[in-house]
Amino acid sequence: MALNIQENISLKSYNTFGMDVLAKFFFRFSTTAQMQEIGNDSLFRHNPVMVLGGGSNMLLTTNFEGLVIKNEIPGIELISEDADHYFVKVGAGVDWHEFVLYCLEKNYAGVENLALIPGKVGASPMQNIGAYGVEMKDVFHSLEAINVDDLNLVTFYNADCEFGYRESIFKNKCKNQFVITSVTFKLNKIPVYKTAYGAIEDALHEMKVDTLSIQHIAQAVMRIRNSKLPNPSVLGNAGSFFKNPEIEAVQFDSLKNYFPNISGYKTDSGKIKIAAGWLIEQAGWKGYRNGDAGCHDKQALVLVNHGNATGTEIFELSENIISSVHEKFGIFLHREVNIY
Ligand code: FAD
Ligand code: NAP
Repeated sequence: MALNIQENISLKSYNTFGMDVLAKFFFRFSTTAQMQEIGNDSLFRHNPVMVLGGGSNMLLTTNFEGLVIKNEIPGIELISEDADHYFVKVGAGVDWHEFVLYCLEKNYAGVENLALIPGKVGASPMQNIGAYGVEMKDVFHSLEAINVDDLNLVTFYNADCEFGYRESIFKNKCKNQFVITSVTFKLNKIPVYKTAYGAIEDALHEMKVDTLSIQHIAQAVMRIRNSKLPNPSVLGNAGSFFKNPEIEAVQFDSLKNYFPNISGYKTDSGKIKIAAGWLIEQAGWKGYRNGDAGCHDKQALVLVNHGNATGTEIFELSENIISSVHEKFGIFLHREVNIY
């Protein structure tokens, strides 16, 4: 049967920044076999290809003169369990938060701190999504992905993925090499509560929680997120635009002399992680707006599209922010969002 490939499709509703650019060719797949079928097609072989999940971690700066393939593989399945864990296999096209809600309903612990992160499960290993002291790698067991060269389905285990801080092998060495089709998670039967991060304790206190549960933690996280992060369906954005920089302790100590309020968190590697949002705010960008491109007024790390900003305008704003933060603090910010 002929593949249903659409042409000149607007991507506006497929990216959370709301950038109105065109995909020259557009194809949806909901099975591994369909992905392999498109992989064999000459359009796939002879054009740039973009894998699209929920479009919540990308900035589209121009029309995509190639083939966009939208991953819609469904399914959440408990495949096995041992004394301490449940192993749950999830289709790459499942909404991340829908998967979190499934876990909360079943009492499977481990992803409660990651509630309300937009996007699809298939993209979660790409940057090892993280929030409130938990990263996807903490509950990751394995994933299946199609190698775009030979179209074979390959399994990657935790150590294979080279997970780091908002990093993985799929964002670096193996960029554009694999299409993730499913992820298997290893969830805890006995929860290990992580509440020490950010404002979770305060939110739990406000909620008057006495006996803690994973559901309470998820509620606290959702409460905080709803209060400070812009909802992309109201205000276009892709979450944190930059990664938090990690600097040497000696540089941190010297910055502290000039900026006594600067706070840092020691990382496993001995470096100091600085909140990029704080640096951007100190450089004067919080709430900034030029035309429809801006910096969010509650969280300076989030760049926003007030309506009709172009991807290029948002990108230029990010360049200006990088320069000014460098000028003030001597620290280079790196973008977390994928630029197209
Ligand atoms: P997309 O934006 O569609 O894709 C991102 C990249 O992954 C692209 O390069 C794409 O080609 C590639 N990709 C997507 N799917 C696949 C696949 N199946 N196989 C191979 N490559 C693929 N991130 C966090 O880590 N923590 C947060 O707390 C967080 N909060 C956010 C809050 C808001 C309001 C927003 C808008 C974003 C936030 N993000 C956060 C960023 C984003 O939600 C995550 O990075 C998410 O995992 C992206 O998923 P997606 O499906 O939208 O990916
Ligand atoms: P926040 O609570 O205001 O904290 C600011 C920064 O300080 C965060 O970026 C966080 O780093 C760091 N931090 C806070 N408490 C820490 C601790 N106890 N130990 C180590 N680091 C600590 O941050 P926020 O902007 O509201 O975000 C809350 C959480 O959601 C963060 O984990 C953040 O990464 C995540 N988030 C991510 C995105 C995204 O698009 N990537 C968007 C929104 C929120 P980390 O970022 O390293 O955790």
